[in-house]
Amino acid sequence: MFEKDTLDVVVPCFNEEQNIDSFYERIASTLNKIKINYKIIFIDDGSKDKTWQKILSLKKINENIIGIKLSRNFGHQSALKAGLDIAESDYVFSLDADLQDPPELLEEMLIKLKKENLNVVNAKRKKNNEKFFKKITSYIFYYVLNKISKTEISQQVSDFRLIDKKVLNKLKSIDENDLFFRGLIPWLGFNSGEIFFERQNRSKGETGWSLNKMIDFAITGIFNFSNLPMKISFILTILMSLVFLIFTGYALNSYFSGNVVRGWTSLVLIISFFNIIIFFVLGLISEYVGRIYFEVKKRPNYIIDEKR
Ligand code: UDP
Ligand code: MG
Repeated sequence: MFEKDTLDVVVPCFNEEQNIDSFYERIASTLNKIKINYKIIFIDDGSKDKTWQKILSLKKINENIIGIKLSRNFGHQSALKAGLDIAESDYVFSLDADLQDPPELLEEMLIKLKKENLNVVNAKRKKNNEKFFKKITSYIFYYVLNKISKTEISQQVSDFRLIDKKVLNKLKSIDENDLFFRGLIPWLGFNSGEIFFERQNRSKGETGWSLNKMIDFAITGIFNFSNLPMKISFILTILMSLVFLIFTGYALNSYFSGNVVRGWTSLVLIISFFNIIIFFVLGLISEYVGRIYFEVKKRPNYIIDEKR
């Protein structure tokens, strides 16, 4: 059914020496079963273990493997971008190396994409086996993000997805440094669909997402897909104006009832008034700075150390 198509599998790897072999076996047997022309692009994201050596030895037994070694750990999203940037097939399948995303789902995703004429198929977690802390913080994060962002970013979607060439080319052309594919892809538009799966626990090794990386990622999501932080001084202006009104009433009331030190009322009014002006001007400036911020996202996402 897929003999005429080409597919790139993009796999970011950070300290995955224990998972790469079994990952390769499962993805290779899936690919052979569905008989598609493929390349598997492994991106070693600055691993400290033998991930790169493992990739090189797999390359010896299968010439359809491409290995990319980044010069240091740039993080999952940048590693994914590195893979997308050299992908050039009709379809691109991205998934984790730790077997939490079952490679076998590729067939179902490809069939769905073709049958329903979609550009993106996301695999959505039906059940989330994550630890309580990760589950609750991620729930709150996506809830807030969806409230404040115009782009709809699904709670249970990770970067386990299949995209077509159109989406691939758009993603390649995006020159942002702080990447957040979960937001960028729905932001791009196109037709997307989803399939559901039960996410397994990590096969071996440890998660590469430290608390710090997760916080950074959450901040990136919020700042890249919402301008609420930028609007804070405007919101403060409104709040300050309310406080100003109440205080003006109080100051005037004290003034007319006579029990007030001379000069106090005018002082209160002047201070409050100028504070509101200052907040308003800060709001204007932050609006411009925010817009500049969205314009200047032009730094490279990663630096390739080796490509074979
Ligand atoms: N990963 C990466 N760079 C990083 C962290 C993770 O390339 O800095 C890879 C990792 O090897 C895996 C995928 O991204 O293939 C998902 O990471 P992980 O399993 O650690 O995240 P979790 O599933 O715990 O959210
Ligand atoms: Mg994982």
